[in-house]
Amino acid sequence: MCCDDQSHSQPVPGRRAALGFLAASLVTGLGACAVPITQTAQSTPVPNSPTRGPLEAEPLTIGDAPSSGAASPSISATPSAAKKRIRRSFIPDYSLPPIQGGLAPVITKIPTAHPVVFLTIDDGVVKNPEMVQLMAQYDYPATLFLTSSTVRDNPGFFTAFKAQGSLVENHTVSHNVKMATQWSYQQQLADIQGMQQFAQQQYGRTPVLFRPPGGAYSNAMRKAVADAGLKAIVTWEAKANSGRMDYQYGNSLRPGDIVLMHFRQEFAADLAAFRQAQLAAGLEVVLLENFLGVA
Ligand SMILES: [Zn+2]
Repeated sequence: MCCDDQSHSQPVPGRRAALGFLAASLVTGLGACAVPITQTAQSTPVPNSPTRGPLEAEPLTIGDAPSSGAASPSISATPSAAKKRIRRSFIPDYSLPPIQGGLAPVITKIPTAHPVVFLTIDDGVVKNPEMVQLMAQYDYPATLFLTSSTVRDNPGFFTAFKAQGSLVENHTVSHNVKMATQWSYQQQLADIQGMQQFAQQQYGRTPVLFRPPGGAYSNAMRKAVADAGLKAIVTWEAKANSGRMDYQYGNSLRPGDIVLMHFRQEFAADLAAFRQAQLAAGLEVVLLENFLGVA
C-alpha cells in the first residue's frame, strides 16, 4: 500500500466547481488534551490554530467536546482549560459539486479563502499506538481513507482517532491501484460497496468520500462511486512522505490544500513534516467532511 503517488496528470474537474455558501458552520481544534489515551503533563499541548483570519466565525465548541464548562472560548486562555476542546468555526465558502450525469465529482483541493488545510491518512497497514498519541497531542482531525483488506486484522485501532473528530472513509477493499483501468464498472462497484459495508459495520457510519488506490480514476469509477452512495472522489496536491512534504504546485501549503499521508512506519516523521508546513503556512487543520458539510 505505497503507491498513492500517481495522480499528477489526473483531470481535476472538481477544482473549478462553482463556489457557494453553506449555512452550516464547521469546526477545528484548539485544545489538545481531550484524548482517549493516558497523557500526562509532559505531553505539552500545542495549539493547532496560529491566527484567526477575517472570514472566520466566532469560536465554538463542538458536540463531542467535554461538556463541563467548555462552552466559553475564553476558557482556552487558561492552562487548566487546555483539557477542554475548544474549536473555531468557519463559514464554508465552498459547496461540494453535485453528482452530474451519474458521475461523482473529483476534488483535489478546496478553493477557499479560509486559512484551513485538510489532512487525509490512507490505507492502514501500520497500526502503532504512537500514531494515536501524536494525533491527540496535536489535536488533528483527519479523514481516514481505509482499505478493509489492510485494517481487517485490527479495525478497532482506528476508532481511537474519533476522539480528535476523525472519520473513516472509503479506500476500497482490494487497494488495486489498476482498478480504474483493469476492472469493469461492476467489479469496481462491488469493491467500493464492500468497503462501504465494512465501514458501516466497524465504525457505525457509511462513508461519503472515496479515494482511488493510487489516485487514478475514470468515468466508470466515478459512476461506481456515485452508485455506491458516495458524494465525491478526493485526491490531493500535497503529501507528507518519507519525512518531508511534497507539493505538486509551489513549495508550501496553500489554503484549502488536501494533504495525503499514510499509516506507515514513518508516520511520526511525516506528521512532523506536515505540522511544520501547516504552522509555517498559518493554516488550521479542519476536517474535510465538516468543511464540505458531509460529516
Ligand atoms: Zn492507498
